[in-house]
Amino acid sequence: MIANVVAETLNPYQIAQQQIDAAAAYLSLPEHVTQILKQPKRVLSVSFPVRMDDGTVRVFEGFRSQHNDAIGPTKGGIRFHPDVTLDEVKALSMWMSFKCGVVGLPYGGGKGGVICDPRLHSKGEIERISRAFMEAIADIVGPDRDIPAPDVYTTPQIMGWMMDTYSRLKGVNSPGVITGKPLIIGGSKGRNEATAQGCVYTILAALNDIGLPVEQATVAVQGFGNAGRIAARLLSEAGAKIVAVSDSKGGIYDPQGLDIERVSELKDNSSISEYGASYAITNEALLELNVDILVPAALENVITSANADRIQAKIVAEAANGPTTPEADRVLSGKGITVIPDVLANAGGVTVSYFEWVQNLMNYYWSEEEVLDKLEKNMIQSYVAVRDLAKEHGTDLRTAAYMISIKRIAAAMDARGWI
Ligand code: NAD
Repeated sequence: MIANVVAETLNPYQIAQQQIDAAAAYLSLPEHVTQILKQPKRVLSVSFPVRMDDGTVRVFEGFRSQHNDAIGPTKGGIRFHPDVTLDEVKALSMWMSFKCGVVGLPYGGGKGGVICDPRLHSKGEIERISRAFMEAIADIVGPDRDIPAPDVYTTPQIMGWMMDTYSRLKGVNSPGVITGKPLIIGGSKGRNEATAQGCVYTILAALNDIGLPVEQATVAVQGFGNAGRIAARLLSEAGAKIVAVSDSKGGIYDPQGLDIERVSELKDNSSISEYGASYAITNEALLELNVDILVPAALENVITSANADRIQAKIVAEAANGPTTPEADRVLSGKGITVIPDVLANAGGVTVSYFEWVQNLMNYYWSEEEVLDKLEKNMIQSYVAVRDLAKEHGTDLRTAAYMISIKRIAAAMDARGWI
């Protein structure tokens, strides 16, 4: 009852803390262990000047948060977005720790963000923002310390510029400082598709669990970027019917199924709305469609207590980070909806980032087949471990995923003598 009178928080940092509490309740951990996990170990806040094309100078603000490095160096993307906040970056770094823990990578969580809107800047301005941000955080990142990667509105090209800046500052070629780079300078085959591919592996496993053949499944995808667009393509290739997709400007819906290749071409050359005015749908309505699989692949807090009771999907696969609030989680769980949590559903990205880092450190590069084979094994193993633990304790998949991660991180802190 209390939950109904306390206003739902949309602050991602508070949400991440609530999620830790929910999982910790099932584990007998000393209180101080939970306290350590509920905040990042180190946060750097920077401001840096960048010259614009018109000769003026603008000062940008950015952050890098390192949550926990008991298991290994911290790892996580850099986001360029006008709505980036310190609390968001802190939450995202915490989610990265739990993500790495679920899929068994030797990393803790990190995250970075710059308050800017890349859609309003020229390529040259974005390059200068990228290089200046890397220079500002160079002292706390590095192949053995903290390894960034792409996130919302950051690209392989941006990773390439950042790696170059870091290498020049240190006077050595250092591809292992950042992942998601272009192939020619140490990127990994399969990295571009990895987040979506990993997500699709977990969706196929969840479909199998509920006994629904993929060829009979309908799908709605919110967000048509790296994660959402490739997930839509891969699910379509697997036989599912993609009935709705959207981006920041709105969505399109056809109950007969969209032609995903055509939508992709429109996204590249004009706007997905050109698919036809009669197909238009809002981002809000897309979430509530009567589909089998809903893939939120844009930003946080899109499924909240305000709309959770209207979600009709059988499976919600969180390609985005933090799309569902804890309050909404309870509603979805009560309705019997399977939520494949972000820390598992989108862990394919950091898994292949890990493979990229290993290849950089070895200077020995793998075929795409080898990368995808390792990714599939890891994602399926992790999904099964989470599903089985959830069954054993009668929890949702998110709580089970956090239990696995928290146990690992606590064991590493204990082995180091920190606790
Ligand atoms: P991206 O920049 O490639 O794409 C973002 C997409 O979301 C774009 O299509 C954009 O138009 C759309 N979008 C933005 N605001 C929106 C809104 N309000 N409503 C609907 N759509 C909106 O970013 P991405 O890398 O695909 O990341 C998307 C999500 O996936 C983020 O939550 C990110 O943290 C998560 N993620 C990405 C990766 C990765 O490897 N790229 C890995 C793990 C998690």
